[in-house]
Amino acid sequence: MQNCVDVLIVGAGPVGLNLALALHHYGVSFRIIESKSQPVQTSNALVVNSRSLETWHAMGFADEAISRGLKLKEAKLFDSNRLLNHAPFSNIDSEFNFLLALPQAQTEALLIEQLTKHNILVERNTQLIKLEDKASEVQLSCQKGDIVEDIRAKWVVGCDGYNSSVREFAGIERDCEDLSQHFIMIDAKLSGDLNFDEITTVFHTAGSLIFIPMKDRVRVIAETSHDPKYKDEKHGSEEIFADILSQRHPGVAIDAVFWSSGFYVHECIAKSFKKGHVFLAGDAAHTHSPAGGQGMNTGIQDGWNLSWKLAQVLNGDANEQLLESYNTERRAVAQDVLKRSGLLTKVSTTNNRLAQLLRNFGVGGILNLDIVRSKVVNSLAQTDIYYSDSPLVDGEQISYHGKAKLPNSNMKWLLLSKDSIENKGGLPEFVKIEPNHLYWSDQPLCLVRPDGYVAMCADALFEISGYFTENGMR
Ligand SMILES: Cc1cc2nc3c(=O)[nH]c(=O)nc-3n(C[C@H](O)[C@H](O)[C@H](O)COP(=O)(O)OP(=O)(O)OC[C@H]3O[C@@H](n4cnc5c(N)ncnc54)[C@H](O)[C@@H]3O)c2cc1C
Repeated sequence: MQNCVDVLIVGAGPVGLNLALALHHYGVSFRIIESKSQPVQTSNALVVNSRSLETWHAMGFADEAISRGLKLKEAKLFDSNRLLNHAPFSNIDSEFNFLLALPQAQTEALLIEQLTKHNILVERNTQLIKLEDKASEVQLSCQKGDIVEDIRAKWVVGCDGYNSSVREFAGIERDCEDLSQHFIMIDAKLSGDLNFDEITTVFHTAGSLIFIPMKDRVRVIAETSHDPKYKDEKHGSEEIFADILSQRHPGVAIDAVFWSSGFYVHECIAKSFKKGHVFLAGDAAHTHSPAGGQGMNTGIQDGWNLSWKLAQVLNGDANEQLLESYNTERRAVAQDVLKRSGLLTKVSTTNNRLAQLLRNFGVGGILNLDIVRSKVVNSLAQTDIYYSDSPLVDGEQISYHGKAKLPNSNMKWLLLSKDSIENKGGLPEFVKIEPNHLYWSDQPLCLVRPDGYVAMCADALFEISGYFTENGMR
């Protein structure tokens, strides 16, 4: 193995694996190390959202993922057994207008299969033990058994999770808040009065309850913070959940339990996602409430955002200024996700009776508006993100021209006619050029970044070449 690399990825959870695939697609050389001997074997992160599927489509394996998972068609909200409202995922603005239930173990297995196809191996049992960011490179030490290897990398990406050592070595602080809510969960075979292709959330005075179906089982999560019987339980069990179901959502029976766990909610965000030659992505950079299933998906988008920028800098097509936009764009998104998932957790778990009544009344009324339904599901699917405050995106022009993101990206810069973006909405059969081959055109054009986001629209071509110059790209 080369001990001098362009990029070292630390951590082969879902975020590190996704980043590795994206870097490979851009032709960047890298190594990926992982302290554990094998990938996750449990179901943990379950929901793959539409934006993640769009990026998997660009890399060529969304169909394979979909064939292994279960398409979830809508979310229903109940007050005990009374339906309050529903939000169909058909309102998601994507070819993938559903959420995919795919247990994390299967997600990681799929990503590893994709890497193996390209002869890329995760270096397992290998732990980062030292990192020093020097002026022009990062010097690292990794330990595998008794052997310590020194590695020099131009760039390091810490995808090493909540207790990130990359973050610690780089001296990046974070802000954290521990919420008081406690949850227990089981993955079980269920029968009875439940739709097995929908997410069901039940508000109850004893605590909320969520059902997320998978292909052959259902994840059941119960909030127990205020439940006098179960507030001290660390894990779910068949007996506990049979009792909870009979109280909070009768009519559903447990046939078998396959896995049980429990969790408290820690919300954290690193003060910066980049320092010198070190980047943070995924849980290393931000940790959320599992409410809304956003943690892994947000991390996948971190890698999607960073990979093309690293490729461009390493290929000499951009100066390092481009990489600063990773922190600007992704930290703003993570802050927003944290705010929303934290709020969702607090609202769905409040034990204040008046607040519960207001919540149920609000959910029953406001979700009847199509515009609200659409906003909610696009936020879950992360199809509403377009970096409008970034220097790399001219938000004003995009809102004028209508589209902020192409449904699918082909991981290249595209120059498209404005008309095709507004009216066809799909990847076009027309003008497609590399940034250094701009040519005169007589129609308004929109420039699309390799990650699929519209950078700007312009009537004159010189404005588009100005975009590249201003942002340090050639
Ligand atoms: C119950 C539960 C349900 C969830 N459901 C969802 C969901 O439905 N959707 C969703 O998007 N998210 C969900 N999440 C969140 C999701 O699991 C995490 O956000 C996601 O796993 C983060 O991925 P990661 O790759 O950043 O970190 P991790 O999965 O933590 O991976 C980090 C990797 O780095 C390795 N590592 C650590 N230190 C070192 C070192 N020094 N050297 C080498 N390797 C190292 C670790 O061994 C690990 O494999 C859920 C979480 C929980 C707890």
